[in-house]
Amino acid sequence: MEFLLPVYRQPDFTLVRGEGDRVWDDAGRSYLDFTAGIAVNALGYGAPELRRSVEEALEAGLIHTSNLYRTVPAAELARLLVERSFPGQVFFCNSGAEANEAAFKFARRWAGAAHPGRRTGIVAFRGSFHGRLFGSLAATDRPAYREPFEPLMPGVTFAEVGDPDGVAEILGRGEACAVIIEPVQGEGGIRPVGDDFLKALRALCDEHDALLIFDEVQCGLGRTGEAFAWQLAGVVPDMMALAKPLAGGFPMGAVVVSPGVAETVQPGDHATTFGGGPLVARVARTVVEKVTDPAFLARVREKGSRMGARLAALVSAHPGARRARGRGLMWGLELDGPAAPVVDAARRRGLLLVSAGAQVIRFVPPLTVSPEALEEAMDILDASLSHAGY
Ligand SMILES: *Cc1c(COP(=O)(O)O)cnc(C)c1O
Repeated sequence: MEFLLPVYRQPDFTLVRGEGDRVWDDAGRSYLDFTAGIAVNALGYGAPELRRSVEEALEAGLIHTSNLYRTVPAAELARLLVERSFPGQVFFCNSGAEANEAAFKFARRWAGAAHPGRRTGIVAFRGSFHGRLFGSLAATDRPAYREPFEPLMPGVTFAEVGDPDGVAEILGRGEACAVIIEPVQGEGGIRPVGDDFLKALRALCDEHDALLIFDEVQCGLGRTGEAFAWQLAGVVPDMMALAKPLAGGFPMGAVVVSPGVAETVQPGDHATTFGGGPLVARVARTVVEKVTDPAFLARVREKGSRMGARLAALVSAHPGARRARGRGLMWGLELDGPAAPVVDAARRRGLLLVSAGAQVIRFVPPLTVSPEALEEAMDILDASLSHAGY
């Protein structure tokens, strides 16, 4: 422990095992896990189909080959992602931040081809989170994350979610090549962006010849009860960033790039040593097939509406609980005060939760969560809210 750089504040136990919806610590205590590795472990812990995919990949003997050579798993995964989303091509990388930074580079590449030497700016939104690297952090609306590390990537302008006129004004300056938004803001407090606003952004980007990038790193791949959150609004982006659940817990990110952008990208424009390796890509194919299956998504929606109903009841019962927001199995409970005491109280009662901003408790269980575990978690939450004085 004392050898880990202290960038994380970790509670006082060590996890050693997981199965289904639960993890166990080294003292044998079990916890119902509604963090799921921060919306990563969509199929829960110890999923047999993931184990089989890992074994299959290992049998071929190729964990990694680099992108100097083609492999079957990367080709198959790229094709599957395009089939399940929109026409285009796929770039693989290793995290959400990397996926967004790749999208920014492709946007500038495209803009350089369409408008030589000019448009380099990015429009992002209040409440956004796009990652912790210098480009993705520049597009992240969190002063505490940003300020100690400035200067960041220049050229990012923030607009308000729900204010199309503000976006129009910024795009009208002719300096931005892309608009990036999370269709459901995650770290910013689990805030679904209205369908009408996403439609307005699509129209504004078309009008001003800018690209629309959807960051579906957290809300994508089944989390909202749709394969991708934008499908609820019927608005197709020019690029889509994916990561968190993509490879079942192995680090992987991806950008799906529409043909008009893809055709401006040349060999050598961008690269990564590890991205899309045969082991992670094989596992990701299993995840993507499962979490985009219509029957699976129908169960996510059912369990999600039950969770929404239970959270709404808790808002009525607890004066300090302000409102519940979410879609599918991605929910936030906004409180009058800090979320941390509730998170601590829940952990002592055997439920792992994570906040999204200071006053919002976030619920992102495995998409395979059992209905019984869901009820149990809501019961523990009820008791923890009372314990923390809400
Ligand atoms: C977590 C997250 C990221 C960053 O992903 P990393 O893998 O931590 O780099 C980017 N965008 C969104 C919406 C996220 O939730």
